[in-house]
Amino acid sequence: MKNRLFLSSPDVGAIEEKYLIEAFRSGWIAPLGPDVDAFELEMAAKVGVAHAVALSSGTAALHLALLGHGVRAGDVVVTSTMTFAATSNAIRYVGAEPYFLDAEADTGNMDPDLLERALTQLAHDGVKVAAVVPVDLLGKAANYTRICAIARQFGLPVIADSAESLGASHAGKRAGAWGDTSILSFNGNKIMTTSGGGMLLTNDASFAARTRYLATQARQPVAHYEHTEVGYNYRLSNLLAALGRAQLSRLDEMIGRRKLVRRFYRDLFSDVPGVQIFGGDNDDDDNFWLTSIEVNAATAGWSADDLRRWLDEQNIESRPLWKPMHMQPVYKDAPALLTGVSQRLFETGLTLPSGSVLDSRDLERVAGAIRAFLTMPVPA
Ligand SMILES: *Cc1c(COP(=O)(O)O)cnc(C)c1O
Repeated sequence: MKNRLFLSSPDVGAIEEKYLIEAFRSGWIAPLGPDVDAFELEMAAKVGVAHAVALSSGTAALHLALLGHGVRAGDVVVTSTMTFAATSNAIRYVGAEPYFLDAEADTGNMDPDLLERALTQLAHDGVKVAAVVPVDLLGKAANYTRICAIARQFGLPVIADSAESLGASHAGKRAGAWGDTSILSFNGNKIMTTSGGGMLLTNDASFAARTRYLATQARQPVAHYEHTEVGYNYRLSNLLAALGRAQLSRLDEMIGRRKLVRRFYRDLFSDVPGVQIFGGDNDDDDNFWLTSIEVNAATAGWSADDLRRWLDEQNIESRPLWKPMHMQPVYKDAPALLTGVSQRLFETGLTLPSGSVLDSRDLERVAGAIRAFLTMPVPA
C-alpha cells in the first residue's frame, strides 16, 4: 500500500531544524526567551499590527481575547456556525453563550446580512451581546468591511478568528489585522506550524500587556509569587517560537505552493459536471490553506461522500467541510439564525489534499485516483 496522503501535513525541513537546534544550543529551553520576542515582532510586522502575543494554541488566544474584551458568564457572543469547535468552545470557557450565524454561500464565511438582522433582534429583545467573532474559513477572510461596520454600529468589539487565514487579505488589509483583536493558530495542520501554538494580535499596547500577564499565571511584578486574580499558563515556549520563525520565513513560499495545488484542482475538475471549486472564482486574496470542492450529486451522478470513500481506499485523505456548530450535539440548544447554507456546504463539500508538502508525484497520484473514480460506471 502506498503511503497515506494527508489534507495538510506539516511542511518542515532543514531551515526549521537549524532554527530549532540554534534555540536549543542557545540555552533558552525554559519557556519564553529571545525567539518568542523575535517571533512576535516578525509576525506583527508580517500581518501589519502593532502587537503580537505568542501563546500555546489558537484556542488559548481566543480564550484570552474574550477575557480581554470583558466577555463574561451570561453574555451572548455572536459567531459563525461554520467553524471548528475551538471558536465556540472558547466562548463557553468564559461562561458566555454562542449565537450562531449561517454562512455566505460562496465563501462559507459569516453572512453580514444575518449579523445585522441578529444584532437588531437581540438589541430589541434586550439581550446583552458582548462581542462578534467572525471566522475566516479555509483561508479566505470574512467580509470585514461590512462586519466591522455593523459591529461598530452596535458598539461591539470584533474578535477575528483568523486561525486559518494567515497570509490572506481583505480589501487590501491582511487577515489578522481586521479585528479589534485577532487570533492565529500554528497547529500541525495549519498553513504554518509551531507543532502547537497560537497568537493574539492587537494594536492596543495595554491589551497586549494584559494578555501576557494573564498568560503567565497573572503574577504581580514582585519577587515573591503574588496573585490578585486567576491566570493561565498559556505562553508559547522559546523552542517552538524558533520553529515558528523558520516557518514564517518560508510562509510566502508555502502559500505559493498551495496556490499551485488550487490551480491543479481547478484544471482537474474544470469540465466535470456538478463539481465546482469551493470559494468562488476569485483567489486573489486567498492563502490557499485548503482546497475543497462542492458536489451537486444530482448533476454529477455521485456524492462528495462517494468520492471520499473511494479516496480513502486509495489511502488518500479527504474530509467534509466543518460540521456546523448548530448541528453538533454539544451546541444543539444554542440560539442560531440559519438559512441552510452551512448545512448544505457540510453535505456537499469535500476538502482534498492541499498541503505545501505535496510534490508533483503526490498530485499525480491524487489525479489518477480521481480520474479512475470519474470513469467508473455509476452504480445502478
Ligand atoms: C485550528 C483552529 C482553531 C484552534 O487553534 P488551535 O491552535 O488548534 O487551538 C480555532 N479556530 C479555527 C477556525 C481553527 O481552524
